[in-house]
Amino acid sequence: MSELTSLALPHVASLHAYTPGLQPGESGWVKLNTNECPYPPSPRVMDAIRTALGADGSSLRLYPNPKSAPLRAAVARHHGAGLTAENVIIGNGSDDLLNLLVRAFCANSANAGITFPSYSLYPVLIGIQDGRTEVIPFDRSMRLPVDRIISSTARAFFLTSPNAPTGVAFSNAELERVLAGFPGLLIVDEAYAPFAEENAVSLLAAHPRLVVVRTLSKAHALAGIRVGYALAHPEIIGLLDRVRDSYNVNALSQAAALAAIEDPDYYAAIIARIKATRDRTIADFAVRRRWFTYPSSANFVFTEPKDAHGVSSPAVAKSAYDFLVAHKVLVRIFPSHALTASFLRITVGTDQEMLVLSDTLDTWSKTHTA
Ligand SMILES: *Cc1c(COP(=O)(O)O)cnc(C)c1O
Repeated sequence: MSELTSLALPHVASLHAYTPGLQPGESGWVKLNTNECPYPPSPRVMDAIRTALGADGSSLRLYPNPKSAPLRAAVARHHGAGLTAENVIIGNGSDDLLNLLVRAFCANSANAGITFPSYSLYPVLIGIQDGRTEVIPFDRSMRLPVDRIISSTARAFFLTSPNAPTGVAFSNAELERVLAGFPGLLIVDEAYAPFAEENAVSLLAAHPRLVVVRTLSKAHALAGIRVGYALAHPEIIGLLDRVRDSYNVNALSQAAALAAIEDPDYYAAIIARIKATRDRTIADFAVRRRWFTYPSSANFVFTEPKDAHGVSSPAVAKSAYDFLVAHKVLVRIFPSHALTASFLRITVGTDQEMLVLSDTLDTWSKTHTA
């Protein structure tokens, strides 16, 4: 270890940074690797950014609203369900909120709970706080291990629903069983809930230990502006406000997010398109190709490719991935664990993009032998 690194706190010196999905610099890629929206945001978002900027940009001299107060109110109105602005906190992406939750509730003396597989950022954030993690693995069914979560030692448990990278959603009935038995904070990361049939917002009123985390990065086509929010009991929101950066969301992002939240009809239409493309994609993989594919309630599918001999394996998944990359189609693989290594995670793009993907995989299927 270098002298400079040894000046850092020991847990920081041994950290591994989160590995984001590739963002290729040049155009020409069919980019299906980071679950972004294939359609542009509401046109009202562009108008709101221009208005917030003003003619000469002089509004940028001023600090933004420190609490993103108008946005908190708009999010509460958008969800209804008896929520008020007191139940809402806005973050610089939902990653910011996940980080605040770890800061407030997880430490070396207070375990964080996660499932495997799920969003791989959680262990990174917990590591930054020198926290301890209890990992509860799924089996291949990917069904929620309710009893194991209930009996975990975690102070706060992070659950992704619909899950990543599988797309499998957990029902409110299952979440209520967890809430009835688990004494800690249950954080449900609903990054993909706009694509699902059910979500946990209606459970908030009866369950003060529930936190629901949302993002505008996926269904709202705004990954670049970095806005997410959390819904919870006002006391939890108050705790998160104590550990938050005072100006954590910039002025242009607040304006853009407000316009997006206030245009639900636009988003209902693109979400319906993405779900229709997703369901056709699942049929293509599961029915036509007979590749094992998890039922997806998200904007991506998790499928296990078979080679020309009908074999699935990590090497087969890697071969399909490499072939796709060579043809400028970018998807994601998760080679480090047996539960995920033989799969591809494919973001639902436009119908045209899915056609390119499908044609490229057809060519790979015919030519590849292990
Ligand atoms: C994409 C994603 C996020 C990150 O959202 P940002 O708001 O862009 O930070 C959080 N959780 C899950 C499960 C995600 O897939």
